[in-house]
Amino acid sequence: MSVLVYLENWEGKFKKNTFEAAQYAAKTAEMMGTSVIGVTFGTISDDAAELGKYGVSKVLNLSGDDYNSFDNYKIAAALKEVAAAQNCDTLIVSGTFNGKAVAPLYSVMAEAGMITNVTELPSSVAPLTVKRSVFSSKGFVNYSTEASSKVIVFIPNAVGVVAGSGSAEMTESNVSLGDLPQTNVTNVDRVQGKIPLPEAERVISGGRGLKGPENWSMVEELAELMNAGTACSKPVADMGWRPHNEHVGQTGIAINPELYVAIGISGAIQHLAGVSNSKTIVVINSDAEAPFFKAADYGIVGDAFEVVPKFIEALKKFKA
Ligand SMILES: Cc1cc2nc3c(=O)[nH]c(=O)nc-3n(C[C@H](O)[C@H](O)[C@H](O)COP(=O)(O)OP(=O)(O)OC[C@H]3O[C@@H](n4cnc5c(N)ncnc54)[C@H](O)[C@@H]3O)c2cc1C
Repeated sequence: MSVLVYLENWEGKFKKNTFEAAQYAAKTAEMMGTSVIGVTFGTISDDAAELGKYGVSKVLNLSGDDYNSFDNYKIAAALKEVAAAQNCDTLIVSGTFNGKAVAPLYSVMAEAGMITNVTELPSSVAPLTVKRSVFSSKGFVNYSTEASSKVIVFIPNAVGVVAGSGSAEMTESNVSLGDLPQTNVTNVDRVQGKIPLPEAERVISGGRGLKGPENWSMVEELAELMNAGTACSKPVADMGWRPHNEHVGQTGIAINPELYVAIGISGAIQHLAGVSNSKTIVVINSDAEAPFFKAADYGIVGDAFEVVPKFIEALKKFKA
């Protein structure tokens, strides 16, 4: 039995999450002593051969009208058909928005056991055992499954990617989808000109301590100087100070950048759930007792309205 991996693409382009999924699947297959097959949907404009650098040499591409826009029913049903045709008993999915919409449907359709929020490569493959985060990343549990069909959904950026050598071959494929609920995409609203949070190497984030939306210019200036994405806590998005696509945490986007700078954010467990995988965390908060300091690598106790402008000034001098 082989390992199948859902290789997501965004308008034909592969992103870091795709390569991470490829690598996760390739390493799992290696541990199992079997092969890995990638599946991607729609028209691909990137060079699929690149996927070989992450250990997947065989990629099936399903294109055509069914896959012109994202429809989780169609993707899950197609993955199920491919898994059956290619003799795959394990599906690997990156827990992106789309991945999280596909995996549970696949699990039901294929009667597969699913483990979500996985944070590491399997520690064993007989039985398949993985570590997953629970209680908003406050704890970790090792889960084993003996299900004959399985889905592993790992947290994006949890294991990272390292490009090797190798090349992939992509071949066109087709499956019959049968009767499925009909989804029509009528409008797509795209965020323009920003670094997408799941891919950002650096993220500058603001919380309620910034008092109001009018004070975000310093967050944006700092982010621009550091070539970083901008994020915020949930109440900030709920109050409409910032758009919801910047909300990070348990109910928002989970990120794992090299650097996360939290300004005026208390560090509630639900916020930490989405950012605690960051490699380096810097916290700026006026309250020395703010819980976020416990999770910080560097902490500055001070008023954001004094600290951040000094930070910006120092960066400008450094850059000059
Ligand atoms: C089911 C559930 C899910 C949730 N999901 C999320 C989630 O995904 N993401 C999320 O963020 N939250 C989430 N929350 C909310 C979470 O519990 C917190 O309420 C929220 O994170 C607090 O946001 P905050 O830190 O911006 O605001 P506050 O808790 O109000 O903290 C503001 C911080 O700013 C500091 N401050 C004030 N003035 C200054 C200043 N001048 N300079 C520097 N620091 C200053 C204060 O000391 C304080 O620490 C969730 C809650 C629930 C119940």
